[in-house]
Amino acid sequence: MLQQRTLKSLTRAVGVGLHSGQRVEITLRPAQADTGIIFRRVDLPLPVDIPVSADSVSDTRLASTLAKGTAKVHTVEHLMSACSGLGVDNMYVDITAEEVPILDGSAASFVFLLQSAGIELQKAPRRFIRLLKTVEVRDGQGANEKWARLEPYHGYKLSFEIDFAHPAVDSTGQRVEFDMGSQSYSRDIARARTFGFTKDVEMMRANGLALGGGLDNAIVMDDYKVLNAGGLRYDDEFVKHKILDAMGDLYILGKPLLASYSAFRSGHGLNNKLLRELLAQPQAWEVVSFADDALAPKGFAQLARAW
Ligand SMILES: [Zn+2]
Repeated sequence: MLQQRTLKSLTRAVGVGLHSGQRVEITLRPAQADTGIIFRRVDLPLPVDIPVSADSVSDTRLASTLAKGTAKVHTVEHLMSACSGLGVDNMYVDITAEEVPILDGSAASFVFLLQSAGIELQKAPRRFIRLLKTVEVRDGQGANEKWARLEPYHGYKLSFEIDFAHPAVDSTGQRVEFDMGSQSYSRDIARARTFGFTKDVEMMRANGLALGGGLDNAIVMDDYKVLNAGGLRYDDEFVKHKILDAMGDLYILGKPLLASYSAFRSGHGLNNKLLRELLAQPQAWEVVSFADDALAPKGFAQLARAW
C-alpha cells in the first residue's frame, strides 16, 4: 500500500519573513494520519490552528497567504513545495509570527529540514486527487493573458512558461517541464530561488513589503543583469522557481494531485483560482489510493524515506 507520510522527529528553523522582515521561528512536528498540514500561530494569546486548504487562501498578492479568522500565515508556498516534493502529508508547523521565514529564497532549506527530521510511513493509505477531465482558468487579455490548466495524467508533471522581456531572463530558458516520475525534485527544482527587480524592490519597500529581501535570499536584477555575485544556481533558475511555487500553491489542495499542470505566466492568484475551479467541478476528479505500490505512478512509490 502507498502510505501517508509524516516526520520522524521535530525540527526547527529561525529566519526572517521576506515581506515583513520580522524574525520568526518555525517548528515542524509529526502529525497523525489524516491530519493534513496545519500551521499553528503559537505567538497569539490563544494559539490558532490554520489548516492548509484551498479555502484558507485569503491573499495571493506576491505570496500565498492562509488565514483563519484574523490569524494569518504569509508566504507558505516554498515550505508547501518542499512537502509536495518529498511527499509529506501530515505535519504541524508551529510558527511565532505571521510569515514563514524566507531562508535562502528557495525550497532547499526546507528540503534539508524535512530530510533531517526524517520521513515516517503511516498506517493510512495516501489519497490522491486524480484528474478525470481538463480544468482550466484564464486571466487578462492580449499581452496580459495568463492561464493555468490541469489535465488527466498518470503521475505528476508540471510545465511552465514565463515571458519576461529582460536580458538576464531572456538569455535563459523561459519554459521548463518537470515530471516527478523521471526527475528529482530536490536536485532539479528545490534550489531555484525567488527573483525580483531592483526597481520593483524599491517600490515594494516604500509599501512596507520585501523588507527582509536581499541578495542572500533572492536573485536580484537591475535593468540589465543579475546582481548576485554567485550568479544563477540553474541556467533556467527563474522558470524553475515558478514550477517550485506552483507545486507549493497546488499542494494547498490538501492532497497530492495526479495530473499534468501547465501554465503560461501564472502566479499565486491564478494557481489558487485553478484549485477553486477544480473543487467546483467534482465530476472532473476522483480520490484514489493504491493498495498495490506497483500500480502507483512512477515517482510516488519511490519517494525516499530520507533516513
Ligand atoms: Zn516563490
